[in-house]
Amino acid sequence: MEEDYISISTLNDFIFCPYSIYLHNVYENTDESIFHATPQTQGRIAHETVDEKKSSTRKDVLQALPVYSEKYGLMGKIDVYRAKDKYLVERKYQLRQIYQGQIYQLWAQMFCLQEMGYEVEHIAFYEVSTKRTIPVNLPTYEDKQRFEQFLRSFRDYTLMQPFQPNLNKCRHCIYCNLCDKTTEDNVYQ
Ligand code: SF4
Repeated sequence: MEEDYISISTLNDFIFCPYSIYLHNVYENTDESIFHATPQTQGRIAHETVDEKKSSTRKDVLQALPVYSEKYGLMGKIDVYRAKDKYLVERKYQLRQIYQGQIYQLWAQMFCLQEMGYEVEHIAFYEVSTKRTIPVNLPTYEDKQRFEQFLRSFRDYTLMQPFQPNLNKCRHCIYCNLCDKTTEDNVYQ
């Protein structure tokens, strides 16, 4: 059932703040200009090139392919998959640091591709602003176990769980001005 599937793009947000997933669902169909702050806008610019399928015309390059995994209950979209090299790449406008949630998202894309029959031997981020490729290790057995545990905690999360906002995160959260858990101001305003 589709409602049981987790959107790959929310994995990093969940680690950032589980409550933001709730707000994301509430404001999903809202005018994006209300809450899209600077980093998110840049992120969308990085992806627009891919979504418009302009970054390459080579036939062995798949772009913006919808992917899913029944095993993990995940769905989403990959950025770029180069079939010849079995290479999966996720483009980001800027990567000052790589968060565990972003690595989970890349692994999730890889698991989906593999379940759909595509071979993946290399995964990497590509920083658009510096034209830098940052290779990421393929998950080990222990990594997969941690990933599965993470997905369980995502599914088990309920709004009834005790929650203490991290104000430093709130200041950098796109939902800051709409969130009932904080009175902080967003630094991007
Ligand atoms: S404003 Fe703070 S508490 Fe609210 S969703 Fe964002 S990070 Fe979480």
